[in-house]
Amino acid sequence: MSALVSTDRRLAWAAATLAFAVGALVSPNAAGASSIDGQWHITDPVVGPWDPPRTTHEPESRWQKLPPAGVDSLSFPHFTGPEFNELFTTAELPNLSSLSAAPTITYSDEMDEHIRAEAIERGYQRRPLPADYALMRLIDDGLTLQRPAAAAWLALQQDAAEHGFELELNSAYRGHRYQRQLFLRPIKAPYEFDDVADRMKMSAPPGYSKHHTGYAIDIGQSGYHDFGSSPAYEWISAGNFANAKKHGWIPSYPPDGGRQGPEPEPWEFTYVGVEAILCFHQPPTGDDPLCTA
Ligand SMILES: [Zn+2]
Repeated sequence: MSALVSTDRRLAWAAATLAFAVGALVSPNAAGASSIDGQWHITDPVVGPWDPPRTTHEPESRWQKLPPAGVDSLSFPHFTGPEFNELFTTAELPNLSSLSAAPTITYSDEMDEHIRAEAIERGYQRRPLPADYALMRLIDDGLTLQRPAAAAWLALQQDAAEHGFELELNSAYRGHRYQRQLFLRPIKAPYEFDDVADRMKMSAPPGYSKHHTGYAIDIGQSGYHDFGSSPAYEWISAGNFANAKKHGWIPSYPPDGGRQGPEPEPWEFTYVGVEAILCFHQPPTGDDPLCTA
């Protein structure tokens, strides 16, 4: 039964990918391209062409350490919204490339410049892509994550299940092309700056999404449309997100995060690892063996 469902989902995903590819071929202006010279080349895969192995029995690395013995969820440090955001940006996660030139957004250099200025004004930051796609892991058909995040997602999902909450993964790694498609989908070309600026309340322009890193997930609770008011959210966010921290996850856009890009998104979490969470407030004095390792 589950194999059938899996095959169906894989086919549906393949069909959607093909439909997009065909759409791009027969209708090159569909995404608002004023010029397509060389612009449709894929510089980063949407979900492939690499074939990431499924996550099983990953070797433990410092990026996926469990909390040390004696540290329960109550011992995790408290973070303000801006601190959560700083934690993700400074976590020095593995397998990320250095930033390339900003990807095109609307294929108009002038418009893109305005959009990037507005994005930065809102608090968005450029985010890197994975360095080596072969190191990523397939979680669900078409959804991939960086290896430590993949293991940590499965652990979080299992923990939630043991508490009676069925968590589902709705989005994971996204490349520039997919983010552009997602960003422009609700607005129509020719793009008006006001519409694009409005769109940025909900979605990052390509180049600025945490999903580019492979360390961000959008999750939901089965049967609940609004994750922010679901019982699972209550569980995961209690005690300054203790049940997320326990598995190395933090809220991506916390409710009190200040200028951080989009409006708060209760469904998005980013992986930083338990160690980074425990050590964020610790000066590297050499006193704490965990935080100086
Ligand atoms: Zn998201």
